[in-house]
Amino acid sequence: MTQFSYKNDELFAEAVSLSSIAETVGTPCYVYSRQEIESNWLAYDQALSAHDHLVCYAVKANSNIAVINLLARLGSGFDIVSIGELERVIRAGGDPAKIVFAGVAKREDEMRRALEVGIRCFNVESEQELERLDQVAGDMNLKAPVSIRVNPDVDAGTHPYISTGLKENKFGIAMDQARAVYQRAAKMKNIEIIGVGCHIGSQLTDMTPFVDALKRILNLADQLESDGISLQQIDIGGGLGIRYEDETPPTHQEYADAILPLLADRNLTLLIEPGKSIVGNAGVLLTKVEYLKSNDVKSFAIVDAAMNDLMRPSLYDAWQEIQPVSITNAEDQNYDVVGPVCETGDFLGRNRQLTVQPDDLLVVRSAGAYGFTMSSTYNSRPRIAEVMVDGDQTHLIRRRETIDELMTGESLLPPGK
Ligand SMILES: *Cc1c(COP(=O)(O)O)cnc(C)c1O
Repeated sequence: MTQFSYKNDELFAEAVSLSSIAETVGTPCYVYSRQEIESNWLAYDQALSAHDHLVCYAVKANSNIAVINLLARLGSGFDIVSIGELERVIRAGGDPAKIVFAGVAKREDEMRRALEVGIRCFNVESEQELERLDQVAGDMNLKAPVSIRVNPDVDAGTHPYISTGLKENKFGIAMDQARAVYQRAAKMKNIEIIGVGCHIGSQLTDMTPFVDALKRILNLADQLESDGISLQQIDIGGGLGIRYEDETPPTHQEYADAILPLLADRNLTLLIEPGKSIVGNAGVLLTKVEYLKSNDVKSFAIVDAAMNDLMRPSLYDAWQEIQPVSITNAEDQNYDVVGPVCETGDFLGRNRQLTVQPDDLLVVRSAGAYGFTMSSTYNSRPRIAEVMVDGDQTHLIRRRETIDELMTGESLLPPGK
Protein backbone atom coordinates (compact mmCIF):
# COMPACT_ATOMS: atom_id res chain seq x y z
CA MET A 1 0.00 0.00 0.00
CA THR A 2 1.39 3.36 -0.97
CA GLN A 3 2.14 5.82 1.80
CA PHE A 4 2.16 8.69 -0.71
CA SER A 5 -1.39 9.91 -1.23
CA TYR A 6 -3.49 13.05 -1.56
CA LYS A 7 -5.49 14.54 1.27
CA ASN A 8 -7.59 17.53 0.21
CA ASP A 9 -5.58 17.81 -3.01
CA GLU A 10 -2.27 17.96 -1.13
CA LEU A 11 0.26 15.14 -1.48
CA PHE A 12 1.41 13.54 1.77
CA ALA A 13 4.10 11.09 2.75
CA GLU A 14 2.43 9.20 5.60
CA ALA A 15 1.11 12.05 7.78
CA VAL A 16 3.47 14.77 6.54
CA SER A 17 2.68 17.07 3.61
CA LEU A 18 5.36 17.27 0.97
CA SER A 19 5.03 21.05 0.80
CA SER A 20 6.01 21.26 4.47
CA ILE A 21 9.11 19.17 3.73
CA ALA A 22 10.01 21.48 0.84
CA GLU A 23 9.73 24.39 3.25
CA THR A 24 11.95 22.94 5.94
CA VAL A 25 14.48 20.91 3.92
CA GLY A 26 14.39 22.74 0.58
CA THR A 27 14.33 21.22 -2.89
CA PRO A 28 15.29 19.02 -4.53
CA CYS A 29 15.30 16.18 -2.01
CA TYR A 30 14.42 12.53 -1.71
CA VAL A 31 11.59 11.60 0.65
CA TYR A 32 11.10 8.03 1.91
CA SER A 33 8.37 6.37 3.96
CA ARG A 34 9.54 4.26 6.86
CA GLN A 35 6.29 2.33 6.98
CA GLU A 36 6.34 1.42 3.32
CA ILE A 37 9.96 0.23 3.45
CA GLU A 38 9.27 -1.93 6.48
CA SER A 39 6.04 -3.39 5.18
CA ASN A 40 7.71 -4.37 1.90
CA TRP A 41 10.45 -6.26 3.75
CA LEU A 42 7.96 -7.90 6.11
CA ALA A 43 5.78 -8.97 3.18
CA TYR A 44 8.65 -11.07 1.81
CA ASP A 45 9.53 -12.44 5.21
CA GLN A 46 5.95 -13.49 5.92
CA ALA A 47 5.29 -14.91 2.46
CA LEU A 48 8.36 -17.15 2.79
CA SER A 49 7.74 -18.13 6.39
CA ALA A 50 6.87 -21.77 5.56
CA HIS A 51 10.49 -22.43 4.54
CA ASP A 52 13.83 -21.67 6.18
CA HIS A 53 14.87 -18.39 4.52
CA LEU A 54 16.74 -15.11 4.80
CA VAL A 55 15.73 -11.89 3.06
CA CYS A 56 18.97 -10.10 2.15
CA TYR A 57 18.21 -6.51 1.15
CA ALA A 58 20.30 -5.42 -1.86
CA VAL A 59 22.08 -2.40 -0.45
CA LYS A 60 22.88 -0.82 -3.81
CA ALA A 61 19.22 0.08 -4.34
CA ASN A 62 19.31 2.59 -1.48
CA SER A 63 22.30 2.54 0.83
CA ASN A 64 21.49 5.33 3.27
CA ILE A 65 22.46 4.06 6.72
CA ALA A 66 19.03 4.94 8.11
CA VAL A 67 17.40 2.62 5.57
CA ILE A 68 19.90 -0.15 6.32
CA ASN A 69 19.39 0.34 10.04
CA LEU A 70 15.59 0.03 9.85
CA LEU A 71 15.93 -3.24 7.96
CA ALA A 72 18.62 -4.49 10.34
CA ARG A 73 16.19 -3.90 13.20
CA LEU A 74 13.73 -6.22 11.45
CA GLY A 75 16.43 -8.90 11.22
CA SER A 76 17.28 -8.44 7.56
CA GLY A 77 20.31 -9.86 5.84
CA PHE A 78 22.18 -7.77 3.27
CA ASP A 79 23.46 -8.28 -0.26
CA ILE A 80 26.52 -6.10 -0.83
CA VAL A 81 28.76 -5.46 -3.83
CA SER A 82 31.67 -3.46 -2.38
CA ILE A 83 33.66 -2.72 0.76
CA GLY A 84 31.86 0.61 0.96
CA GLU A 85 28.53 -1.19 1.26
CA LEU A 86 30.06 -3.58 3.78
CA GLU A 87 31.14 -0.72 6.05
CA ARG A 88 27.74 0.91 5.70
CA VAL A 89 25.97 -2.24 6.84
CA ILE A 90 28.31 -2.65 9.81
CA ARG A 91 27.93 0.99 10.88
CA ALA A 92 24.18 0.77 10.52
CA GLY A 93 24.02 -2.19 12.90
CA GLY A 94 23.60 -5.00 10.38
CA ASP A 95 24.71 -8.49 11.39
CA PRO A 96 27.86 -9.50 9.42
CA ALA A 97 26.77 -13.13 9.66
CA LYS A 98 23.81 -12.21 7.43
CA ILE A 99 25.84 -10.49 4.71
CA VAL A 100 26.32 -11.99 1.25
CA PHE A 101 28.98 -10.42 -0.95
CA ALA A 102 28.36 -10.33 -4.72
CA GLY A 103 30.26 -8.68 -7.57
CA VAL A 104 32.55 -9.74 -10.40
CA ALA A 105 35.69 -7.87 -9.33
CA LYS A 106 36.23 -8.32 -5.60
CA ARG A 107 39.63 -6.96 -4.59
CA GLU A 108 41.96 -8.60 -2.10
CA ASP A 109 41.44 -5.90 0.51
CA GLU A 110 37.67 -6.31 0.19
CA MET A 111 37.98 -10.06 0.70
CA ARG A 112 40.22 -9.59 3.72
CA ARG A 113 37.84 -7.16 5.40
CA ALA A 114 34.83 -9.36 4.70
CA LEU A 115 36.62 -12.39 6.17
CA GLU A 116 37.71 -10.36 9.18
CA VAL A 117 34.14 -9.38 10.08
CA GLY A 118 32.83 -12.87 9.31
CA ILE A 119 30.29 -12.47 6.54
CA ARG A 120 27.85 -15.25 5.75
CA CYS A 121 29.24 -15.97 2.29
CA PHE A 122 30.99 -14.78 -0.83
CA ASN A 123 28.94 -15.14 -3.99
CA VAL A 124 31.85 -16.09 -6.24
CA GLU A 125 31.55 -15.16 -9.90
CA SER A 126 34.68 -16.65 -11.54
CA GLU A 127 37.31 -19.32 -11.16
CA GLN A 128 40.07 -16.75 -10.69
CA GLU A 129 38.10 -15.11 -7.91
CA LEU A 130 37.86 -18.48 -6.21
CA GLU A 131 41.63 -18.93 -6.40
CA ARG A 132 42.25 -15.47 -4.99
CA LEU A 133 39.78 -16.03 -2.18
CA ASP A 134 41.41 -19.37 -1.29
CA GLN A 135 44.74 -17.60 -1.07
CA VAL A 136 43.53 -14.63 0.98
CA ALA A 137 41.66 -16.89 3.40
CA GLY A 138 44.75 -19.10 3.65
CA ASP A 139 46.90 -16.09 4.60
CA MET A 140 44.43 -15.38 7.39
CA ASN A 141 44.19 -19.01 8.50
CA LEU A 142 40.48 -19.01 7.76
CA LYS A 143 38.03 -20.85 5.58
CA ALA A 144 36.00 -18.65 3.26
CA PRO A 145 32.31 -19.59 3.00
CA VAL A 146 31.39 -19.68 -0.68
CA SER A 147 28.28 -19.82 -2.79
CA ILE A 148 28.93 -19.91 -6.51
CA ARG A 149 26.87 -17.59 -8.64
CA VAL A 150 25.92 -19.45 -11.75
CA ASN A 151 24.60 -17.90 -14.89
CA PRO A 152 21.50 -19.93 -15.72
CA ASP A 153 21.20 -18.48 -19.25
CA VAL A 154 17.63 -17.35 -18.68
CA ASP A 155 16.20 -14.28 -20.38
CA ALA A 156 14.66 -12.09 -17.71
CA GLY A 157 12.72 -10.24 -20.41
CA THR A 158 13.66 -6.87 -18.98
CA HIS A 159 15.75 -3.91 -20.16
CA PRO A 160 19.08 -5.10 -21.68
CA TYR A 161 21.12 -3.04 -19.17
CA ILE A 162 19.43 -4.75 -16.22
CA SER A 163 19.35 -8.30 -17.61
CA THR A 164 22.14 -10.25 -15.97
CA GLY A 165 21.37 -13.95 -16.43
CA LEU A 166 22.31 -14.49 -20.08
CA LYS A 167 25.51 -16.08 -21.31
CA GLU A 168 26.52 -12.83 -22.97
CA ASN A 169 26.41 -11.01 -19.58
CA LYS A 170 29.54 -10.69 -17.44
CA PHE A 171 27.93 -12.19 -14.34
CA GLY A 172 28.33 -15.59 -12.74
CA ILE A 173 29.83 -18.82 -14.00
CA ALA A 174 28.25 -20.50 -17.02
CA MET A 175 26.01 -23.40 -16.11
CA ASP A 176 28.01 -25.89 -18.21
CA GLN A 177 31.23 -24.96 -16.35
CA ALA A 178 29.77 -24.79 -12.87
CA ARG A 179 30.08 -28.46 -11.95
CA ALA A 180 33.80 -28.51 -12.74
CA VAL A 181 34.34 -25.30 -10.78
CA TYR A 182 32.61 -26.80 -7.75
CA GLN A 183 34.83 -29.85 -7.99
CA ARG A 184 37.90 -27.61 -7.98
CA ALA A 185 36.51 -25.55 -5.11
CA ALA A 186 35.89 -28.69 -3.08
CA LYS A 187 39.61 -29.43 -3.22
CA MET A 188 40.69 -25.96 -2.07
CA LYS A 189 41.95 -25.93 1.50
CA ASN A 190 40.56 -22.57 2.50
CA ILE A 191 37.22 -22.66 0.74
CA GLU A 192 34.06 -23.98 2.34
CA ILE A 193 31.28 -24.56 -0.16
CA ILE A 194 27.94 -23.63 1.33
CA GLY A 195 25.65 -22.87 -1.56
CA VAL A 196 24.69 -21.86 -5.04
CA GLY A 197 23.02 -18.76 -6.37
CA CYS A 198 21.99 -16.61 -9.30
CA HIS A 199 20.58 -13.20 -10.06
CA ILE A 200 18.98 -12.88 -13.46
CA GLY A 201 18.06 -9.21 -13.60
CA SER A 202 15.97 -6.35 -12.31
CA GLN A 203 12.36 -5.27 -12.77
CA LEU A 204 11.00 -8.74 -13.57
CA THR A 205 7.23 -8.65 -13.88
CA ASP A 206 6.67 -12.34 -14.50
CA MET A 207 7.53 -15.39 -12.36
CA THR A 208 8.50 -17.64 -15.28
CA PRO A 209 12.17 -16.59 -15.53
CA PHE A 210 12.62 -16.98 -11.74
CA VAL A 211 11.12 -20.46 -11.83
CA ASP A 212 13.16 -21.49 -14.88
CA ALA A 213 16.37 -20.29 -13.25
CA LEU A 214 15.56 -22.02 -9.97
CA LYS A 215 14.84 -25.33 -11.74
CA ARG A 216 18.17 -25.17 -13.54
CA ILE A 217 20.01 -24.45 -10.34
CA LEU A 218 18.29 -27.26 -8.47
CA ASN A 219 19.27 -29.57 -11.27
CA LEU A 220 22.88 -28.49 -10.73
CA ALA A 221 22.50 -29.04 -6.98
CA ASP A 222 21.41 -32.63 -7.69
CA GLN A 223 24.46 -33.22 -9.88
CA LEU A 224 26.70 -31.79 -7.17
CA GLU A 225 25.08 -34.06 -4.59
CA SER A 226 26.04 -37.04 -6.73
CA ASP A 227 29.59 -35.65 -6.81
CA GLY A 228 29.58 -35.69 -3.02
CA ILE A 229 29.14 -31.92 -2.68
CA SER A 230 26.13 -31.01 -0.61
CA LEU A 231 24.78 -27.51 -0.30
CA GLN A 232 23.12 -25.70 2.59
CA GLN A 233 21.68 -22.68 0.83
CA ILE A 234 20.28 -21.51 -2.46
CA ASP A 235 20.13 -17.85 -3.40
CA ILE A 236 17.75 -16.81 -6.15
CA GLY A 237 18.81 -13.17 -6.26
CA GLY A 238 16.60 -10.12 -6.36
CA GLY A 239 14.71 -8.57 -9.17
CA LEU A 240 10.99 -8.62 -8.46
CA GLY A 241 9.64 -5.63 -10.34
CA ILE A 242 7.49 -2.78 -9.11
CA ARG A 243 4.72 -0.74 -10.66
CA TYR A 244 6.11 2.38 -12.30
CA GLU A 245 3.26 2.89 -14.76
CA ASP A 246 0.91 0.00 -15.46
CA GLU A 247 3.12 -3.01 -14.82
CA THR A 248 1.57 -5.80 -12.80
CA PRO A 249 4.45 -7.54 -11.03
CA PRO A 250 3.71 -10.66 -8.99
CA THR A 251 2.79 -10.06 -5.36
CA HIS A 252 5.03 -11.32 -2.56
CA GLN A 253 2.61 -14.20 -2.07
CA GLU A 254 2.60 -15.14 -5.76
CA TYR A 255 6.38 -15.03 -5.67
CA ALA A 256 6.51 -17.36 -2.66
CA ASP A 257 3.85 -19.66 -4.12
CA ALA A 258 5.88 -20.12 -7.30
CA ILE A 259 9.20 -20.71 -5.56
CA LEU A 260 8.53 -22.60 -2.34
CA PRO A 261 6.97 -25.79 -3.78
CA LEU A 262 10.21 -26.42 -5.68
CA LEU A 263 12.13 -26.38 -2.40
CA ALA A 264 9.59 -28.17 -0.25
CA ASP A 265 11.45 -31.42 0.44
CA ARG A 266 14.92 -29.98 0.23
CA ASN A 267 17.12 -29.07 3.13
CA LEU A 268 18.20 -25.78 1.62
CA THR A 269 17.93 -22.36 3.20
CA LEU A 270 16.41 -19.96 0.68
CA LEU A 271 18.10 -16.59 0.27
CA ILE A 272 16.58 -13.76 -1.74
CA GLU A 273 18.16 -10.38 -2.49
CA PRO A 274 15.41 -7.87 -3.23
CA GLY A 275 16.35 -4.22 -3.63
CA LYS A 276 13.96 -2.28 -5.83
CA SER A 277 10.84 -3.99 -4.52
CA ILE A 278 11.71 -3.00 -0.93
CA VAL A 279 12.47 0.68 -1.46
CA GLY A 280 11.45 1.67 -5.02
CA ASN A 281 7.91 2.81 -4.43
CA ALA A 282 8.72 3.90 -0.87
CA GLY A 283 10.44 7.06 -2.10
CA VAL A 284 9.84 10.14 -4.23
CA LEU A 285 12.05 12.87 -5.61
CA LEU A 286 10.64 16.26 -4.57
CA THR A 287 11.48 19.11 -6.94
CA LYS A 288 10.43 22.68 -7.68
CA VAL A 289 9.56 24.27 -11.01
CA GLU A 290 11.98 27.09 -11.79
CA TYR A 291 10.76 28.19 -15.22
CA LEU A 292 8.30 27.38 -17.96
CA LYS A 293 9.31 27.80 -21.56
CA SER A 294 7.49 27.09 -24.84
CA ASN A 295 8.12 27.28 -28.53
CA ASP A 296 5.80 26.25 -31.34
CA VAL A 297 6.56 22.52 -30.89
CA LYS A 298 7.36 21.98 -27.22
CA SER A 299 6.71 23.19 -23.72
CA PHE A 300 9.27 22.63 -21.02
CA ALA A 301 8.81 22.62 -17.29
CA ILE A 302 12.34 23.31 -16.05
CA VAL A 303 12.79 21.99 -12.53
CA ASP A 304 15.59 22.17 -9.95
CA ALA A 305 16.32 18.39 -10.03
CA ALA A 306 18.25 16.85 -12.88
CA MET A 307 19.69 13.67 -14.37
CA ASN A 308 22.58 13.80 -11.89
CA ASP A 309 20.05 13.48 -9.05
CA LEU A 310 17.88 10.82 -10.71
CA MET A 311 19.55 8.99 -13.54
CA ARG A 312 17.05 6.27 -14.44
CA PRO A 313 15.03 8.27 -17.00
CA SER A 314 18.19 9.24 -18.92
CA LEU A 315 20.09 5.97 -18.44
CA TYR A 316 17.35 3.42 -19.10
CA ASP A 317 14.78 5.67 -20.74
CA ALA A 318 12.73 4.71 -17.69
CA TRP A 319 9.25 6.14 -17.19
CA GLN A 320 8.46 7.38 -13.70
CA GLU A 321 5.25 9.10 -12.80
CA ILE A 322 5.39 12.86 -12.20
CA GLN A 323 2.70 14.42 -10.04
CA PRO A 324 1.97 17.85 -8.61
CA VAL A 325 2.24 18.28 -4.86
CA SER A 326 -0.90 20.48 -4.91
CA ILE A 327 -3.72 19.67 -7.29
CA THR A 328 -5.39 22.65 -8.93
CA ASN A 329 -8.30 22.78 -11.31
CA ALA A 330 -6.60 24.79 -14.03
CA GLU A 331 -6.27 23.20 -17.44
CA ASP A 332 -3.27 20.95 -17.95
CA GLN A 333 -0.79 21.09 -20.76
CA ASN A 334 1.84 18.84 -22.31
CA TYR A 335 5.36 19.31 -20.92
CA ASP A 336 8.78 17.79 -21.02
CA VAL A 337 10.02 17.96 -17.44
CA VAL A 338 13.71 18.78 -17.68
CA GLY A 339 16.55 19.77 -15.36
CA PRO A 340 19.36 22.33 -15.39
CA VAL A 341 22.11 20.00 -16.65
CA CYS A 342 23.70 20.81 -19.99
CA GLU A 343 22.65 17.65 -21.83
CA THR A 344 19.66 16.99 -24.04
CA GLY A 345 19.37 13.67 -22.22
CA ASP A 346 18.64 15.57 -19.01
CA PHE A 347 14.95 14.91 -18.53
CA LEU A 348 12.89 13.41 -15.74
CA GLY A 349 9.87 12.78 -17.93
CA ARG A 350 8.68 13.63 -21.42
CA ASN A 351 5.21 14.42 -22.74
CA ARG A 352 3.49 14.72 -19.39
CA GLN A 353 0.11 16.37 -18.89
CA LEU A 354 0.58 18.82 -16.03
CA THR A 355 -0.85 22.00 -14.59
CA VAL A 356 2.18 23.94 -13.40
CA GLN A 357 3.39 27.42 -12.60
CA PRO A 358 6.89 28.52 -11.61
CA ASP A 359 7.56 27.69 -7.92
CA ASP A 360 5.09 24.79 -7.97
CA LEU A 361 6.30 21.54 -6.44
CA LEU A 362 6.35 18.23 -8.30
CA VAL A 363 7.30 14.73 -7.26
CA VAL A 364 8.83 11.99 -9.35
CA ARG A 365 7.37 8.77 -7.97
CA SER A 366 9.06 5.37 -7.55
CA ALA A 367 12.39 7.05 -6.83
CA GLY A 368 13.37 5.20 -3.65
CA ALA A 369 15.53 2.65 -5.51
CA TYR A 370 18.48 3.48 -7.76
CA GLY A 371 17.74 7.16 -7.20
CA PHE A 372 20.10 8.72 -4.70
CA THR A 373 22.58 5.82 -4.96
CA MET A 374 23.14 6.48 -8.66
CA SER A 375 23.34 10.24 -8.24
CA SER A 376 26.48 12.20 -9.02
CA THR A 377 27.73 15.76 -8.79
CA TYR A 378 27.84 16.24 -12.56
CA ASN A 379 27.74 19.94 -13.47
CA SER A 380 29.09 20.53 -9.93
CA ARG A 381 25.67 20.11 -8.42
CA PRO A 382 25.97 19.13 -4.73
CA ARG A 383 24.19 15.89 -3.89
CA ILE A 384 20.74 16.48 -2.52
CA ALA A 385 19.16 15.82 0.87
CA GLU A 386 17.33 12.65 1.93
CA VAL A 387 14.42 12.63 4.33
CA MET A 388 12.66 9.75 6.10
CA VAL A 389 9.06 10.27 7.15
CA ASP A 390 7.83 8.21 10.08
CA GLY A 391 4.16 8.87 10.86
CA ASP A 392 3.99 12.60 11.53
CA GLN A 393 7.76 12.88 12.08
CA THR A 394 10.31 13.99 9.51
CA HIS A 395 13.94 12.94 9.88
CA LEU A 396 16.76 14.38 7.82
CA ILE A 397 18.81 11.27 7.07
CA ARG A 398 21.32 12.97 4.79
CA ARG A 399 21.80 16.68 4.69
CA ARG A 400 22.34 18.48 1.43
CA GLU A 401 26.00 18.50 0.39
CA THR A 402 27.72 21.87 0.64
CA ILE A 403 29.78 23.67 -1.99
CA ASP A 404 32.87 23.06 0.18
CA GLU A 405 32.17 19.33 0.27
CA LEU A 406 31.88 19.39 -3.50
CA MET A 407 35.62 20.19 -3.69
CA THR A 408 36.79 18.18 -0.70
CA GLY A 409 39.96 16.29 -1.51
CA GLU A 410 40.84 18.37 -4.55
CA SER A 411 44.01 20.46 -4.61
CA LEU A 412 45.88 22.95 -6.77
CA LEU A 413 49.32 22.35 -8.22
CA PRO A 414 52.12 24.10 -6.29
CA PRO A 415 52.34 27.84 -7.10
CA GLY A 416 54.70 28.93 -9.86
CA LYS A 417 54.55 29.54 -13.56
C1 LIG B 1 21.13 -5.48 -8.09
C2 LIG B 1 21.16 -6.82 -7.48
C3 LIG B 1 20.09 -7.24 -6.68
C4 LIG B 1 18.84 -6.42 -6.46
O1 LIG B 1 18.05 -6.31 -7.61
P1 LIG B 1 16.62 -5.58 -7.52
O2 LIG B 1 16.15 -5.56 -8.92
O3 LIG B 1 16.84 -4.22 -6.97
O4 LIG B 1 15.77 -6.41 -6.63
C5 LIG B 1 20.21 -8.48 -6.08
N1 LIG B 1 21.30 -9.27 -6.24
C6 LIG B 1 22.35 -8.88 -7.00
C7 LIG B 1 23.51 -9.77 -7.14
C8 LIG B 1 22.30 -7.65 -7.65
O5 LIG B 1 23.33 -7.28 -8.43
